[in-house]
Amino acid sequence: MTTIAPEGRVDTDYEIVIGLEVHAQLLTKSKMFCACSTDYANSAPNTHVCPVCMGMPGVMPVINQQAVAYTIMTALALNCSIPEYSKFDRKNYPYPDLMKGYQISQYDVPLSRNGYLTVQHNGQAKKIGITRVHLEEDTARLLHHEGYSLVDINRAGTPLMEIVSEPDMREPGEARLYMEQLREILVYLGVSSGRMEEGSLRCDANISVRPRGRQEFGVKAEIKNMNSFRSVERALAYEAQRQIALLREGGTVVQETRGWVETKGITVSQRSKEQAHDYRYFPEPDLPPLLISREWVAGLRARLPELPDARRARYAAEYGVSAQDANVMTEDKALGDYFEQVMAVSRASDRKARARAASNWLLSEVVRLLKANAVPIQSIPLTPAALANLLDLLDKERITGKQAKEILDEAFATGELPEAIVERKGIKPPISDQGELERIIEEVIRNNPKAINDYQGGKTNALQALVGQVMKATRGQAKADSVQKLLRSKLGETPSA
Ligand SMILES: [Zn+2]
Repeated sequence: MTTIAPEGRVDTDYEIVIGLEVHAQLLTKSKMFCACSTDYANSAPNTHVCPVCMGMPGVMPVINQQAVAYTIMTALALNCSIPEYSKFDRKNYPYPDLMKGYQISQYDVPLSRNGYLTVQHNGQAKKIGITRVHLEEDTARLLHHEGYSLVDINRAGTPLMEIVSEPDMREPGEARLYMEQLREILVYLGVSSGRMEEGSLRCDANISVRPRGRQEFGVKAEIKNMNSFRSVERALAYEAQRQIALLREGGTVVQETRGWVETKGITVSQRSKEQAHDYRYFPEPDLPPLLISREWVAGLRARLPELPDARRARYAAEYGVSAQDANVMTEDKALGDYFEQVMAVSRASDRKARARAASNWLLSEVVRLLKANAVPIQSIPLTPAALANLLDLLDKERITGKQAKEILDEAFATGELPEAIVERKGIKPPISDQGELERIIEEVIRNNPKAINDYQGGKTNALQALVGQVMKATRGQAKADSVQKLLRSKLGETPSA
């Protein structure tokens, strides 16, 4: 009898080894080797095609320079080295989605090599090696029906970038983090939409297991069909357990391609390595070699935007926001951009206090409204200047926190400046007169002997009821925290507090 480690438990006898091959469609306007538009997502099948991407004989491909630039930018962001010479190769294999009968790809001299991506896993930074980033063309799409298949050539020839990692990952969760951080980088660079669910970002994984402590790799399986970050993690966790159980039973892992079946939560064999093709790569005779000048590379490097890790670090150093908030505003680039626009128009003297207030309001109240209205932040009437204005009113104690939320609701919907809303509605300033507030509090204390008794008897939540009474008596014109402070000083701390 053998036992399988229960799911979620770290298996101490075996080590998991994972490497990922990620494909990203590039956001160029035209295809890799012809002038057809890549904006085919909402078009009828076979409407974005020409003799080149249909693979007609006698046509000549032309290299899309923007696609080469995007690939080099990605490689630079992943710390790769860029050779001065590169070329395209023909990868031969017969399949109906391949219009020419071959794919133009890169074989032995890719556009880049030897980089790395740093992931933060369990609080530790770990470098994942990048073997290469190269450029190729996407295939057509096959639509399978009962007894026949249709082919849509719109996708054929779309620039496709492949990012190959070293087998450096040791846990399914680490592979997921790598994918998520890689996606962030692609989106920040503006080279890919990064949408796994739409297939513009795809992931194949190589995974093997070996007895802990052994140097040589075990036999690997290639996993396909993972359409979300969650699928990547689930598929690899399943496959690791499958291989470990097999070895425990005295069996052997077969080198093969396996497909992830999302609905069943399992991987199934698709084809064994014996059926693998010999691609007979050779240099693409219809394309010139690529001579990559150092000046061009230096120019691309100089124009790289700020990358996610740099933004995270800057938010902590420059604005003093929490690591968690910095993370949220980095993962969602638009939220971070909005935050920075609020900071750009803010004239508050204490920059860090303003930054914390801005991120708090943005990530709690504004995000709540975004979700409730199902709108992206790019299309809301509330301008960064309006949010900054709301924070100014709070800083000046012109409005209370409770009033600010109500004003925000209106400004979110209409775009009206908070100070204009305050004016229009005749909202009075909060009671700042200490004497008046104390008078109201004493009255509330006189009228609520039971709550006072409860509080002094140790029921701390009775204080909230009293705060509520005071707020009601002041029609919300008092600041809840100062009311609470005054109540405490008048009643004394509770015995149990
Ligand atoms: Zn075309």
